[in-house]
Amino acid sequence: MRKSKRIAIVGGGAAGMLAALAVQAAGQQATLFERNKRLGIKILISGGGKCNITHNAAPRPMEQGFIPPEARFLRYAFHTLTSDTLLAMLHAEGLQTFTRPNGRVFPVSGSADDVLSAFERMLQRAQATVETNAHIQSVLVEHGVAVGVQRAGNALRFDAVIVATGGISYRKVGTTGDGIGWGESLGIPVVPLRPALAPIYFAPPPPAGWQGVALRDVQLTFAPTLQELNIPNAKHFNQAWRDDLLLTHRGASGPAALEISRAVALAQESGSPLHILADILPDQSHDDLLDMFLERLQSSPTSEIQTFVGGFVPQAVVESVLEQAGMEPGRKLGAVRREERKKLIATLKQWRVGTVGEVPIDRGEVTAGGIALSAVEPTTMLSRAVNNLYFAGEALDVAGRVGGYNLQAAFSTGWVAGQAAATNPQEQ
Ligand SMILES: Cc1cc2nc3c(=O)[nH]c(=O)nc-3n(C[C@H](O)[C@H](O)[C@H](O)COP(=O)(O)OP(=O)(O)OC[C@H]3O[C@@H](n4cnc5c(N)ncnc54)[C@H](O)[C@@H]3O)c2cc1C
Repeated sequence: MRKSKRIAIVGGGAAGMLAALAVQAAGQQATLFERNKRLGIKILISGGGKCNITHNAAPRPMEQGFIPPEARFLRYAFHTLTSDTLLAMLHAEGLQTFTRPNGRVFPVSGSADDVLSAFERMLQRAQATVETNAHIQSVLVEHGVAVGVQRAGNALRFDAVIVATGGISYRKVGTTGDGIGWGESLGIPVVPLRPALAPIYFAPPPPAGWQGVALRDVQLTFAPTLQELNIPNAKHFNQAWRDDLLLTHRGASGPAALEISRAVALAQESGSPLHILADILPDQSHDDLLDMFLERLQSSPTSEIQTFVGGFVPQAVVESVLEQAGMEPGRKLGAVRREERKKLIATLKQWRVGTVGEVPIDRGEVTAGGIALSAVEPTTMLSRAVNNLYFAGEALDVAGRVGGYNLQAAFSTGWVAGQAAATNPQEQ
């Protein structure tokens, strides 16, 4: 039987693959164009090669991985393709998964390749047309209607186009924000692109000895805050995050740094110098720390302050903490004056880890900004400005937390776009 609608999907990542599967499931013909030689490069590098496929959450809790305006936009998509449905698709393909206590879902094999292979098999069985090494140059639009795509100088006509070209981080792997640029050139509103889930580089860079040092379970913040800088909608953004902090030769990384990086990047636009601050002992109050100090003082008054501080932080950063507290490492506990003690405790509660130099957008796990959510219909992913043109995945202005939320957003929006493109009446 001849399929009646031919739908082009540009970008063979999580969103594009699910869009193609939805088109095929609806009985129409999907052609998936991917510039790389294989689909799903970001799935392959996700989760450190292990792929945190999704978050084990019902649709409403899934929204908690996103700031409120993004969560509202994603509501319909998360209900339409839930993480359970997605996992059922993968399980049916023979992929085994497990859920960590924190809700993150991974393949049992620990291999992102197995996740991608499962999608590739699904696409093959569904008889979607997959064109790899296929770099699309633009979307063809005539009289406000998308009519196809331009590839290597050839105009390829389709009944609808789904743009799923991703964000602009990790450009080397092929995500260069093409679809966002196409949207912009068609007059579709675009929210400025910003890094999210990115490391934070310091200026000056950290001392050489810090590389690879981890501080477990700290509360990471920055100053001045978005409120202090009068940045609109400040309350939407994570400005403090409790988790592990990893120090690198450039600055801060690890989950705590990644989670506040979007807000740090936003704050940086004010031009104010920004400091990254860590509460090294978030469960201990100032009074608790004072008690700990006094107990130690009683039991070993001649021990050195560096030994006391070294009980809380890795050796490599003891000097920096003491420097901020204004104390020499060899000072005996018994010789620490009251005011100095207070300052030391205040430093442990708010250690200035470094001054922000850059939040590199290319190193972000996800790009914030992109096609404005107000420009897209959330129950179809159809552009409000250009008929038969759909957007899905990271090309949209969505950027979630670490934990499988971003892939699920791409899968769900891709599925919705595919379903809608296959079933919506077409504008000619
Ligand atoms: C290092 C890293 C680790 C991550 N880990 C996780 C994780 O564990 N869990 C999680 O949920 N999220 C993770 N993410 C985020 C997640 O990978 C992305 O949010 C998600 O892949 C976005 O899916 P997408 O389909 O919208 O875009 P992408 O996956 O980026 O796919 C877009 C595709 O479009 C192709 N393309 C671009 N332009 C063109 C063009 N002009 N013509 C043809 N093809 C084109 C690209 O080559 C690419 O394959 C991680 C990201 C990174 C960078």
